Amino acid sequence: MKKVFLSAITALLLFSCQNDQSESAGSETSALSRRACATQDVLEAQLKADPTLAIRMNQIEAFTNEQIIKGFSGRLVNGKIEIPVVVNVLYRTTAENISNTQIQSQIDVLNKDFNALNSDFNSVPTLFSGVKANVGITFVLDQVIRKSTTKSSWGTRDAMKKPNQGGIAPTSPTTKLNLWSCTIGGGILGYAQFPGGSSATDGVVIDPKYFGVSGSANAPYNLGRTGTHEVGHWMNLRHIWGDATCGSDLVSDTPTHNTANYGVPAYPHYSTCSGTPVEMTMNYMDYTDDAGMYMFSNGQKSRMAAIFVSGGPRAAFGI
Ligand SMILES: [Zn+2]
Repeated sequence: MKKVFLSAITALLLFSCQNDQSESAGSETSALSRRACATQDVLEAQLKADPTLAIRMNQIEAFTNEQIIKGFSGRLVNGKIEIPVVVNVLYRTTAENISNTQIQSQIDVLNKDFNALNSDFNSVPTLFSGVKANVGITFVLDQVIRKSTTKSSWGTRDAMKKPNQGGIAPTSPTTKLNLWSCTIGGGILGYAQFPGGSSATDGVVIDPKYFGVSGSANAPYNLGRTGTHEVGHWMNLRHIWGDATCGSDLVSDTPTHNTANYGVPAYPHYSTCSGTPVEMTMNYMDYTDDAGMYMFSNGQKSRMAAIFVSGGPRAAFGI
């Protein structure tokens, strides 16, 4: 479901309404039997700390809608966007010092999932086959930066991105996607910063247990889809349930979901929201297990593509 016209005031109301929802969602996700992503909580904290962020994000929303309405032809159409990726590894234990092989496995998963090359792409039900997307963005490993630490967990307040808190500052964040691999704690698998935030904290954080293809010990989050989900946020995608009961993800071709789905839901799973649509539980922006998510929609592709257009918040990438 899509809200085409978002004024600054409605955006602020939307964010404040989401607050209660995501906090209640966060409190039930301490056990790793359920996926937990802190992106929305981090956004709400940033909005409180910086009132101008809502205005910038609202401008990005207006720009995105303008591009979609006028049927823009982004550089993504020809698959021209290639994103250099810097991986920042913060480790205390040997297990946290993830191997270059594990790092490359995450890059490989991103390249498959964003180019419809994932082996489960053909598992998308016929109902959604008309909207399943080949996003057409590729990723290339630029460099790996490693730093040992005495911290056992880093939380969700961006300490891992700040050298004065023991972290690693992002490298060239306006032209490179920075990933941090570090133990987050609190049952959080990862979090991302949306377009519009400060470049000093821009990028994606993924716990090393869920970074790339990480082995059966980390099942059901061992197939690299935490990375795909978080990079989706970094490219301006919201959770498919809109972080509210029957909420909006600002995308027109995704069904309205009641709330997050977990595990690997049986198909079809019906929403009880208006129109009782079949939910797109296999979308990367839901909360299912890694094996349960295997598609973006064309509407999500348009949102992602718009941020790279000239004038968009990530236009410097891929040039
Ligand atoms: Zn998320």
